[in-house]
Amino acid sequence: MKTLIKNIKQLVSPVNEDYAILSDFKRLSVYENVSIVVNNGIIEEIIDNPNPDIEVSGVINARNRVVMPAFVDPHTHLVFAGTREDEFNMRIQGKTYMEIAKAGGGINSTVKKTREASEGELYEAAKSNLLKMIEHGVATFEIKSGYGLDTETELKQLRVIKKLMENMPVDIKATFLGAHEIPPEYREDKEKYIEILINEMLPAAKEQGIAEYCDIFCEEGVFDVEESRRILTKAKELGFKIRMHADELTPLGGAELAAELGAKSADHLVYISDKGIDAMVSKNVVFVMLPGTTFFLMSQKYAPAKKIAERGGIVALSTDFNPGSSYTHSMPMIITLACLNMGLTIEQAINAATINAAYSLDLHNKTGSIHKGKQADLIFLDIPSYKFLVYNYGVNHVSAVMKKGKVIYQR
Ligand SMILES: [Zn+2]
Repeated sequence: MKTLIKNIKQLVSPVNEDYAILSDFKRLSVYENVSIVVNNGIIEEIIDNPNPDIEVSGVINARNRVVMPAFVDPHTHLVFAGTREDEFNMRIQGKTYMEIAKAGGGINSTVKKTREASEGELYEAAKSNLLKMIEHGVATFEIKSGYGLDTETELKQLRVIKKLMENMPVDIKATFLGAHEIPPEYREDKEKYIEILINEMLPAAKEQGIAEYCDIFCEEGVFDVEESRRILTKAKELGFKIRMHADELTPLGGAELAAELGAKSADHLVYISDKGIDAMVSKNVVFVMLPGTTFFLMSQKYAPAKKIAERGGIVALSTDFNPGSSYTHSMPMIITLACLNMGLTIEQAINAATINAAYSLDLHNKTGSIHKGKQADLIFLDIPSYKFLVYNYGVNHVSAVMKKGKVIYQR
């Protein structure tokens, strides 16, 4: 079954099929006035307009839009109950963490509500948020657990992710994040919670086969480097691939640990050291940058994405979608923030939100660029050129999203 996507004004893709670094990271392939032939959901060829005589069973008219690969979001906390808009309102008035916690805010409020919610309620809420992210051009997701902090609820979250995988028309990778925080009931006995993570939660998640990655919040006051090493080493033994929340609030050395363990990605990295950058570069660990979180938390200090790129790091971008520190469905907004506040160029930010993000999820063979043999995972944009994606900010330019050759969203 062949489909022709005709009348593309500008077709934009990462140059590389696997990941983009250094000079390639600054480049994009740009074709003007072309069409794409899609065969059974797979990109077959790019041809010039007007089209030669080819036999197709369907035609999609791009109507002179810009077409590029659908975004890949490699770091989301999509499965949770409740929202935290009151806490947000306190935060912007300068209320302290303690005052917010006293008023019932903070991550513990999400944990409490997620524990109480039924699987069906969690699924409906996650689905609704996921659909909004698709509207903003994302067609491949990573989703973490991490708001249960007990075996039962973490598994419940992972089952919701599995159900999303089965029912939603996008690619999804699941990550176990039981080590997101120390649950209130073990605040005074962290060691006990680490034992539960190692001896009960990780084996249970493994046995059910519902998470490919294991993540951790390696941070002062949460899990230090030694504790993170213990938990992640066990995860590796069980066959999980590793992702990390590292060096977000303090320069703890999470980046170095990610390199030591051969993690797939280390994320946040606001306080990463030069040694940490070099260690991650040498092991091809992806640097997932989350400028939306820095913006939303009103911090002035962004992760050094520009420096990382200059040193040869694989830089990816993500929304960090979650109810506390980054409540946005918009990958285009993240791209704009990365350009304005992290010093990335438009081309670098697009590479980071597509091919490099796909590489961090081991999905670069299927998605993240427009190359023969990859899935036709595309977005159609109502703009005169790809540069308007960043330049004309705060607006959703996505008019349609295609996954594996099928239109899954159309405005
Ligand atoms: Zn996160």
